[in-house]
Amino acid sequence: MTLTDPAPTTTEGGLPAGRLFIDGQWREASDGGRTDVIGPATGRVITTVARATTDDVDAAVAAARRAFDSGIWSGLSSRERARILQRAYDLMRERTEDLAQAESADVGKPITLARVVDVNNAAELYEFYASLGHHLDGEVRETTGNTHAYVKREPLGVVAAITPFNFPLILSSSKIAPALIAGNTIVHKPAGDTPLSALVMAEILRDAGVPDGVFNVVTGSGAVLGDHLVGHPDVDKVAFTGSTEIGAHAASVASLALTPFTAELGGNAANILFADADLDTAVHTVISAFVFNSGQFCMAGPRLLVERPLYDVVLGILADALPHVPFGDPTDPDTVIGPLASATQLEKVAAMVERARAAGARIVTGGERVDLDGGFYYRPTVIADVPNDAEIVAEEVFGPVLTVQPFDTEDEAVALANSTRYGLASGIQTVDLAKAHRVAAQLQAGITWVNGWALLDPSVPFGGVKASGWGRENGPEAMASYQRSHSIVFNLDTAATR
Ligand code: NAP
Repeated sequence: MTLTDPAPTTTEGGLPAGRLFIDGQWREASDGGRTDVIGPATGRVITTVARATTDDVDAAVAAARRAFDSGIWSGLSSRERARILQRAYDLMRERTEDLAQAESADVGKPITLARVVDVNNAAELYEFYASLGHHLDGEVRETTGNTHAYVKREPLGVVAAITPFNFPLILSSSKIAPALIAGNTIVHKPAGDTPLSALVMAEILRDAGVPDGVFNVVTGSGAVLGDHLVGHPDVDKVAFTGSTEIGAHAASVASLALTPFTAELGGNAANILFADADLDTAVHTVISAFVFNSGQFCMAGPRLLVERPLYDVVLGILADALPHVPFGDPTDPDTVIGPLASATQLEKVAAMVERARAAGARIVTGGERVDLDGGFYYRPTVIADVPNDAEIVAEEVFGPVLTVQPFDTEDEAVALANSTRYGLASGIQTVDLAKAHRVAAQLQAGITWVNGWALLDPSVPFGGVKASGWGRENGPEAMASYQRSHSIVFNLDTAATR
């Protein structure tokens, strides 16, 4: 194993030359293996990172275990931990450009959105959980009999935080910030395709004062490392975000090890557009809900349900508007839609649209790859005249693709919206607030937006129902996933105490 100085990982090109971050040290993989990171804007290699082995996972878990058991972190008061998280927030602000450049180069995100959405939202998660650290508390319980009972909230231990390729920084922050404020230690495995911002965060957390061993990063392949990490006997909790299929598999591995598991999984949200909606706002919402992050957004709104009188009108507006949404090079500050994150994702999306076309769906606009500098570009696509059981409607596409279906009644809209195995997000566009409340109460989803989309805040919990997952991230609700209660009950009758 090669140990290196804890020197900055940033190369001259501004991107981290990734090594593993274990026990406060930057290390190469135990077998020296490295893997290329491909830039989605060009299809070319932009840097390389260490390809961890299961031995490296063992080393990272051991470091996190030692750090937890030593009390170096859990033994601090939550107020002291809060100060360190607040420093991490400040450093994220100072290093906005490093984080945004890493996220944009790695995922293909338009640079302006990477700064304004990804870095901003991630930093605010640290700020929010730092604020909770100032008043973490337990409870005293009223008991019958002559006893005194109180309930302490304790950290769980070593948390394995596993994240997907599409929002590396935000989704890791949703796990790391609450896990840290509760006093846990962490082994973070970012997605194999998009590991870079995790390495910048390792520097930021170290510089903020997080002690060695408390936060560790292993980059590499989930197929190689995933089962080993999830089933590791020294891991006390797994926080997973990713696809429903891998999440279900990982849940089964965790359950055999009796390890608590939370899962943020796939989505296929419906956006219900009623005929009374403010059309300008609604169309803007519809477009941003499916093109944001090139549609690689678990909470995207790829299924548009339109009240029938507006069906043709909305299709016409979308066909006119979409070609004007700035599309292309993610380094251009005006770009709104960049490439997909990988060649695999591009192939998957293109194949699903081709199958829909072959089955008779109408491509209203888009439906094609764009040849631009070797990048993984796919034109934003609107598809009409599709049955509800068509693959392109029923399955998660995870690309800039919108299907549009008409409905006649409120009940039909609700039935169509709920006719999916997923249940992450949903949206309602209407000026009739009584209708909005009535419909929202019937939607099977962890979050519902009214007259907007992706109205997210660190204080508001989100998470799935049905095949979209277990548990909640964000808000004070997430703390329940990173703490356990410990009840302490005194017998007040005894003469044993003085
Ligand atoms: P994925 O293929 O399921 O991968 C997610 C993570 O799991 C990656 O780090 C992956 O590593 C790792 N992994 C692979 N095999 C594993 C195993 N056997 N055990 C443990 N971990 C393993 O998902 P993705 O393609 O990156 O992301 C897209 C999916 O994530 C979509 O379905 C999307 O809806 C979902 N998502 C959900 C939310 C939410 O909040 N509900 C948010 C964002 C995304 P490798 O990358 O190295 O394979």
